[in-house]
Amino acid sequence: MIDESKKLSNPQVTIQTIRKYHFAFQKKFGQNFLIDSHVIHKIMEAAEITKQDVVLEIGPGIGTMTQYLAEQAGRVYAVEIDKNLIPVLEETLAPYDNVTIVNQDILKVDIPKLVGEKKIKIVANLPYYITTPIIMGLFENHIPAEAVTVMVQKEVAERMQAKPGTKDYGALSLAVQYYASPYIAANVPPNCFIPRPNVGSAVIKLTAYASPPVSVIDEKLMFRLIRASFNQRRKTLVNGIRNSGELSFTKEEVEQALSAVGLSPNVRGETMSLRQFAAFSDELTKRM
Ligand code: SAM
Repeated sequence: MIDESKKLSNPQVTIQTIRKYHFAFQKKFGQNFLIDSHVIHKIMEAAEITKQDVVLEIGPGIGTMTQYLAEQAGRVYAVEIDKNLIPVLEETLAPYDNVTIVNQDILKVDIPKLVGEKKIKIVANLPYYITTPIIMGLFENHIPAEAVTVMVQKEVAERMQAKPGTKDYGALSLAVQYYASPYIAANVPPNCFIPRPNVGSAVIKLTAYASPPVSVIDEKLMFRLIRASFNQRRKTLVNGIRNSGELSFTKEEVEQALSAVGLSPNVRGETMSLRQFAAFSDELTKRM
C-alpha cells in the first residue's frame, strides 16, 4: 500500500512525476489525468472491486487510478497506447506485483486472450475521442465483462442512460441498454483533471446483462434499423430507412411491419423503445 499523500492522486505528486519524465501531454490521445482522490474513491465505490476480481484498465496514463485498482483487485491489466508513458508506469506501479502493463491500442487488443477465461471488470477514465468505439467494441465483441465503470463526457453519459422521447435518446442509448443497465454514479467538474478538459465529465457504471432484456431474431438488422432511424433526426422512421442506403426495404414493407406491431407509419425513432425496435425488426425479418 502506498500512503494516500504519496499517491498520484495528490496533484503535487502528479506534477513532480510529469516533470521528472519531461512528459508532454498528447491531445490526440485524449490525455486528461485525474488529480482528485475523492473522484477516484467514487469510481472505486461504483466499480465494487474485490481481491477476487480481474480488472482491465483502459488508458492508465501515469497510473493514478491503477494504484488504487492494484490495492483492491486480485489482478490488473493496464492497456496504454502511449509508449512515452510506459517507463512512468513501470516506476509508479513498481510497488505492486499484480499489475501487467500492456503498450497497445485497446481497439486492437484481443481481450479474452490477454485476460483469460474469467469474467472481468473494466474500469477507465476513457479518452473522450474514442469513447463510443471502445464501449461498443466491448459489447459487440461480447467481451466477458461483468461491469464497465468509466469516466466519460457528461453529455455522453446522459445519452447512454436516456429514455425514449427525451432529447438525449438515440442509437447509443439503445445500443448500451441492449447490453447493460446504466447508472450515473457521479458528475465530475473539469478542475479534477490536468490539463482541464473543455467539458464536464461523469462516471457511469454499465452492468452487463446475462442475456439481453429483449429477444430479437436478427440483432445486426435491428442495429442497422436503429442507426438508420437516428441518422436523420426529426424524420419519420419510414423515411430514415428509405434514405439510409444500406437497407433495401420498400416503403410498403416498412409500413406493414410497423402496423403489425401496432405503430403508426409516421412514428419517429426517437419515441420507440428497445422492445418496439426488436418487434419491428422481427416483422421485417419475416418479410425477407
Ligand atoms: N487513467 C488516467 C487517469 O485517470 O489519470 C489517464 C486517463 S486519460 C483521460 C486517457 C488515457 O488513455 C491516456 O493515458 C491515453 O494515452 C490513453 N489512450 C488513448 N487512446 C488509447 C487507446 N486507443 N488505447 C489505449 N489507451 C489509450
